[in-house]
Amino acid sequence: MAREPLFDGHGRRISDLRVSVTDRCNFRCQYCMPADGLPWLERAEVLTFEEIHRLASVMAPMGVTDLRLTGGEPLVRRGFPKLVEMLAAVPGIEDLSLTTNAYLLERDADALVEAGITRVNVSIDSLQKDRFFQLTRRDSLPQVLRGLEAIARHERVWPIKVNAVALRGFTEEEAIPFADFARSTSFQVRFIEFMPLDGDHSWSRDQVLTGEELRAIIHSVHPLEEAPREPHATARVFRFADGQGEIGFINPVSEPFCADCNRIRLTADGKLRTCLFSLHETDLRAPLRDGASDEELESVIRDAVWRKELKHRVGEPGFRQPARTMSAIGG
Ligand code: SAM
Ligand code: SF4
Repeated sequence: MAREPLFDGHGRRISDLRVSVTDRCNFRCQYCMPADGLPWLERAEVLTFEEIHRLASVMAPMGVTDLRLTGGEPLVRRGFPKLVEMLAAVPGIEDLSLTTNAYLLERDADALVEAGITRVNVSIDSLQKDRFFQLTRRDSLPQVLRGLEAIARHERVWPIKVNAVALRGFTEEEAIPFADFARSTSFQVRFIEFMPLDGDHSWSRDQVLTGEELRAIIHSVHPLEEAPREPHATARVFRFADGQGEIGFINPVSEPFCADCNRIRLTADGKLRTCLFSLHETDLRAPLRDGASDEELESVIRDAVWRKELKHRVGEPGFRQPARTMSAIGG
């Protein structure tokens, strides 16, 4: 049964929930995790599939129509396609997407599509094997590209996005190879500015290669024209002027899009986060496990969402990086 829509105290309607299904990962990307990994959550701390399903079922009638499954690396969670199947059956969920490093996608692509995944984003930061290794600390580009091919065989989940984090001193060299990739395949390439959510807590503004800088590099070789922006879209999308595809830039640092934010996040241990950069979280696991009714859960969620931050303060004096890193929040 439909309920009152979910609004924050600034009048933004919340319709997008990102669920981190595990804090674990098989990669150690420089901008996300320390080389030695992080202390993983204990199994009992992690929400079960049934608990995630319950929370999605409470939020969907409030107008949460989009669910993105992320992590950590979602595909390292045992039996993950089963969770996809359970969530795909929740009435009101219209879009069920996945963000993955694709290392295990060759194994899982068919099962995920069968289970009802509707969209897939694959993270790839370099199309060159040695540079991919340098950034992810795993020599796995061929395996990842096989995963990408495996999912691309399923037209049902097209268009597939390929996301690259933009780092100064690294990504300049990737700009044209990725532009060529976007022009010669059906994949939609997006660059994402490096955010202060890294495992080493060593982010600084000068390490961010902005979307505008990347756009200019690409434009000088392949002229670009801006495409109209879609509602709630985080990316600025540009078409190649010769009609050969498009490319996008997600610029949370240089051009924050907070005013239009419709997202909340659920960590693997059941904490609701109303902003990537929240310093405060709301525990949903305790009420869940203490036998809260749907109405009680709804009230805790509404109260937390009402207090959603107006905007992030990255780059402003006094900004504090959250203790959790991107891998532990769910990017
Ligand atoms: N492991 C999966 C993957 O890499 O796609 C899903 C989780 S990962 C945390 C989600 C996305 O966050 C990836 O595209 C990754 O590149 C991005 N990411 C991680 N750390 C980031 C940071 N510090 N700044 C910007 N993006 C980041
Ligand atoms: Fe793992 Fe994704 Fe973080 Fe890389 S970005 S370490 S693949 S969670």
